[in-house]
Amino acid sequence: MRIGIIGAGIGGLVAAAGLQADGHDVTVFERRDAPGAIGAGLTLFANAFAALDAIGLGDTVRAVGADPLGRMRSGQRRPSGRWLVSVPPGSGPAVRSLHRAELHSALLGHLAEGTVRAGCTARAHPGGEPVVTVDGTSARFDLVVAADGVRSAARGAWGLDRGVRYAGYTAWRGVTTSRRHFAVEAGETWGAGARFGIVPLPDDRFYWFAVLTATEGTDFGDEPAVLRQRFGGWHAPIPALLDATPASGLLRHDIYDLAALPPSCVAGRGVLLGDAAHAMTPDLGQGAGQAIEDAATLALLLRGAGPLDAALNEYDRLRRRRARKLWRGSRLAGRLAQASSPVAVAARDVLMRAMPPGAAVRASARVARWQEPQQVFPGESR
Ligand SMILES: Cc1cc2nc3c(=O)[nH]c(=O)nc-3n(C[C@H](O)[C@H](O)[C@H](O)COP(=O)(O)OP(=O)(O)OC[C@H]3O[C@@H](n4cnc5c(N)ncnc54)[C@H](O)[C@@H]3O)c2cc1C
Repeated sequence: MRIGIIGAGIGGLVAAAGLQADGHDVTVFERRDAPGAIGAGLTLFANAFAALDAIGLGDTVRAVGADPLGRMRSGQRRPSGRWLVSVPPGSGPAVRSLHRAELHSALLGHLAEGTVRAGCTARAHPGGEPVVTVDGTSARFDLVVAADGVRSAARGAWGLDRGVRYAGYTAWRGVTTSRRHFAVEAGETWGAGARFGIVPLPDDRFYWFAVLTATEGTDFGDEPAVLRQRFGGWHAPIPALLDATPASGLLRHDIYDLAALPPSCVAGRGVLLGDAAHAMTPDLGQGAGQAIEDAATLALLLRGAGPLDAALNEYDRLRRRRARKLWRGSRLAGRLAQASSPVAVAARDVLMRAMPPGAAVRASARVARWQEPQQVFPGESR
């Protein structure tokens, strides 16, 4: 089949690599001039790797990731450093950390030369007509995959948009430049309307994120100063991680998810994938994982014989059911982690301390389970 993909983010690139490996003729349209990654680090759980393995990409992604988190004590702490939930080394969920830029390079390296057309803002056509228009020139495909992110214009063009919602908090991300060994413990630290996360990266640097409850669009002025003021008094190594990150390397994004999930992930011969289909808050660390699951599910279902409609309907059924749980769960986790009133913070902390570490790990493992789709019409690939 001829497949046009709008967007060369993680979802679009994994879909492109999986579909191209199956012999489809794939073109990816990316509006940015260089289809690299904006972002610092990323964690991927076992579900993402199960999906990547199913389409032959698991080892490529494993090669740029590592599991230093698994060798550390992790869990949730208070700003004083007191543990709310503590998971001993080797007992946490299987999770690998990576640099987004390295993940993008590895995925791009999997694609045939010329697959990605950078600097092309693509327009999808109403009703899911499989046509993509760039600068007034249109190309017809058998299928168009919209992997164009949380503010997907294709979702609007196909009549599937229900808007986005500001989650109520903003997140900074940074990566330390020095390879000093800052920490033997990782995880998140929860204060009142403020949170800090520590993730070791494969090359001994550290990825961290800092989240503050804030009005949408707040101008923080001197952002490094705000970070030092809000988090500088928190437990070690948080102040040292902030000091080891140049201001030029800081990223900040207000956090949005979809206000409501689209009534369908499919319109005609158009398919929504990744954040375009189900942008969720990052509180369960599953957004990219779900984009990868989408991509693998689509590639595997298109291997079957039988009508394309049946494969697309099955994609819609499987992916909306799975993503809905995580979209809701992420919101809930965000609300809990960003609790800000003294009463809510006290209640949350009591609840967390009462939870056996094994329960938290089991809950995370349940989330990180991916089910390979069954073919609707098993047989020869289309
Ligand atoms: C602070 C933060 C931390 C996160 N941490 C994690 C984590 O640890 N683990 C995890 O699994 N997820 C995490 N996520 C979520 C994850 O980053 C996203 O879910 C994931 O990157 C979505 O990928 P995507 O390909 O669907 O969309 P995007 O990455 O948004 O890619 C969309 C692409 O489409 C392009 N595009 C848009 N419109 C057009 C157009 N008209 N024409 C051509 N191109 C277009 C854009 O330029 C972009 O390249 C985090 C998110 C945030 C904000």
